[in-house]
Amino acid sequence: EEKVDATEKTLGVVREMAAAMEEHRAELTQLDSAIGDGDHGTNMHRGFQAALERLETSEPSTPADVLKVVSMALVSKVGGAAGPLYGTAFLRASSALPGEGKPSAADVAAALEAALQGIKQRGRAEPGDKTMVDALEPAVRAARESGGEGVAAMLRAAASAAAEGAEATIPLTARKGRASYLGARSAGHKDPGAASTAYLLAAAARALE
Ligand code: ADP
Ligand code: MG
Ligand code: MG
Repeated sequence: EEKVDATEKTLGVVREMAAAMEEHRAELTQLDSAIGDGDHGTNMHRGFQAALERLETSEPSTPADVLKVVSMALVSKVGGAAGPLYGTAFLRASSALPGEGKPSAADVAAALEAALQGIKQRGRAEPGDKTMVDALEPAVRAARESGGEGVAAMLRAAASAAAEGAEATIPLTARKGRASYLGARSAGHKDPGAASTAYLLAAAARALE
């Protein structure tokens, strides 16, 4: 009963994430047009649509399974730099969740932390490089500090920290990814991957209200 419920809730999180990528597709693509190749919104939208399709046919039975299916879809459909990075993030998050039962707030915090470590390892980006790490790292910190108020409150705190982190990428000069080719001209624009990370976390929090 509890197991079914937690899996259903995780599916709800992915649906809300997919809806957010649809809603913000144009904006994310516009951000990427300023300092990249103008495909981040379309990439993320395509990836999450593929995730929804695969979830319909794969019948995952745990939250960890749901995130694993999402990971595979993102790796094969998002492409570019963000595909492997988000794919790694969801795979690591999946592995950090318990094999059965309802994930606790501590489990969710551990999953966010694992996602961050996966992205940092794979992309070799550090905070301040003007990437999605600049949204996810403060989100993980906020999640850890939000203890005791449950998963939804934790994700709300994480999402709000991620949004601030994404805003804070505006003055930065990119040191990773396509935007780094622009050097100092990348300053003055928000990083698209940091923006999508903030939207994904906000969607997760909304789905669990
Ligand atoms: P591409 O740049 O290949 O077109 P996207 O536009 O989908 O891929 O994604 C770009 C985003 O990926 C950037 O805004 C940045 O947040 C993120 N990114 C790029 N390279 C890295 C990296 N090495 N580490 C972490 N994030 C990165
Ligand atoms: Mg791009
Ligand atoms: Mg591209």
